[in-house]
Amino acid sequence: MTAAADTHDVFNQPAPLADYNLFDTNRALRDALNFNAPALQIATLHALGETIGSTEMQTHARLANIHTPQLHTHDRFGRRIDEVEFHPSYHVLMRAAVGAGLHGTPWSGTSASPHVLRAAGFMLFTELEPSVLCPISMSYAVTPALRSNPLIHVEWGPKLASLWYDPALKSFKDKPGVTMGMGMTEKQGGSDVRANTTRAVRAGSDAWGERYEITGHKWFFSAPMCDAFLVLAQAPAGLSCFFLPRVLPDGERNAIHIQRLKDKLGNKANASSEVEFHGAGAWLVGEEGRGIPQILEMGTMTRLDCALGTSGLMRQALSLALNHTSQRSAFGKPLIEQPLMKNVLADLALESEAATALAIRLARTFDHPGDAHERLMSRLLTPVAKFWICKRGSHFAQEAMECLGGNGYVEEGGEGVMARVYREMPLNSIWEGAGNIMAIDLLRGLRKGDAAAALAHELAPARGQHAALDRLIDALPSRVEAMATEFEARRLAQDVALAVQAVLLSQTAPAAVTDAFCASRLGGDWGHAFGTLGGGADFDAIIARALPRV
Ligand SMILES: Cc1cc2nc3c(=O)[nH]c(=O)nc-3n(C[C@H](O)[C@H](O)[C@H](O)COP(=O)(O)OP(=O)(O)OC[C@H]3O[C@@H](n4cnc5c(N)ncnc54)[C@H](O)[C@@H]3O)c2cc1C
Repeated sequence: MTAAADTHDVFNQPAPLADYNLFDTNRALRDALNFNAPALQIATLHALGETIGSTEMQTHARLANIHTPQLHTHDRFGRRIDEVEFHPSYHVLMRAAVGAGLHGTPWSGTSASPHVLRAAGFMLFTELEPSVLCPISMSYAVTPALRSNPLIHVEWGPKLASLWYDPALKSFKDKPGVTMGMGMTEKQGGSDVRANTTRAVRAGSDAWGERYEITGHKWFFSAPMCDAFLVLAQAPAGLSCFFLPRVLPDGERNAIHIQRLKDKLGNKANASSEVEFHGAGAWLVGEEGRGIPQILEMGTMTRLDCALGTSGLMRQALSLALNHTSQRSAFGKPLIEQPLMKNVLADLALESEAATALAIRLARTFDHPGDAHERLMSRLLTPVAKFWICKRGSHFAQEAMECLGGNGYVEEGGEGVMARVYREMPLNSIWEGAGNIMAIDLLRGLRKGDAAAALAHELAPARGQHAALDRLIDALPSRVEAMATEFEARRLAQDVALAVQAVLLSQTAPAAVTDAFCASRLGGDWGHAFGTLGGGADFDAIIARALPRV
């Protein structure tokens, strides 16, 4: 046997990107926070950035993705148990996310901008491992909807906000902290949930209100080890929203049978499942027959997380590309110094910063529910950000991967983090309303309040910054007022996203970033691939701002 050292030296291969502070080095995020929540206490983000940038946590992320969840439908004596077993590293990640308050804490928080604070933490954590953020996101998102059953919310709300993670499958009464999921999608339809066939039959009332028995199935039921779920089912008055615990208040396991786990493209550490309900006990949340608007209060928050999550993944992919190209040389100099690579990296940096700016702006709307303008922006920007940021994600990841050359495409037992990012990217675009559904939802949102005036107000601060942006600011409110047809809905969602992103950058980023963004995305000085910015862009300034290591 010949050792590698006997045949050649290994050189010109980059050191991995590890042991650095993800928050301190993310200037785009820090500037977005400064703009949207100037008084924010960022000490916790600094600490989180240090923890999740560590080699130790990266190892847990790798292990949780290699040793994927295992379903045990029965014990060895043939009794149903319906349990999913995770690698210990999964629990380490969950404990870290819950401990950082990325689940329900904003709803009971005392900080002035709890949703922005949590959004920044969520975005950062995505760079470590996005799969565990599925149950974390749903546990965050559920509160606005769950409040419609105050009897349940009063008991579960504090535990959803607790910083304790307890993975055990037992009564919520015996747990210091709980997690929640959601079940809408069935085999015959996910976008059109009116087609749900799962049935709910009344079974009396008790301390949690109107009790039902649920029979049917869910085709996608992510994180089935959560302590409870909001699900949709057909009740006598129509499709309704129900609270469905895994363990009933008397300690018995609810009749939720996990059929199998999904074999997914990415998101490997998360146990997305298919389930059947066999007369499972559930309690009404909100009014019977009003299930869709009720559960969409949860969907709105998970859509925010799709935008935040993809922004985090973009930042991660960009950081990996910058780390690689600054250490790898070709044709006599580091790749990062080659003019065309500069164009690619700078273009990716613009996209990443614009995504961060828009996602954090959207998070801010949820900190001000009493403000009419913020409420309208929340309604408009949720589908816009979910549509546009997530739509850009896969293209972005492919281009960032290409910066690593062949190394980018290699999994190598989970060490190939870029491959993991690439496989994760399409998910946020599909789940919780795929692209078309988001664009159509924007049209629906435009009918609420004076959307055109609200948008004009939002865009006004950037007037005079760039000729192309001025043209869009002039045109967009009347396009919004005129209401696009469904044929044009994606184009409208895209243009609203680009306009808001440009306006935000003009208020948070250096001129090099704003000018290049406006010239390319709004002014037409751009091609159809990343790396096609006009030659006049200040590539060095844009790249220097984005570097993950200073
Ligand atoms: C990993 C993963 C985890 C998931 N976890 C959950 C979960 O925990 N709970 C849950 O309830 N669901 C979950 N989902 C399901 C997800 O939300 C749905 O897959 C998604 O909403 C799309 O529904 P569908 O798959 O039935 O596709 P369809 O509804 O059949 O849609 C297919 C395509 O048609 C488009 N389309 C639909 N209607 C229209 C229209 N009127 N005009 C134009 N285009 C249209 C859609 O945009 C989409 O591109 C998960 C999905 C994945 C991949």
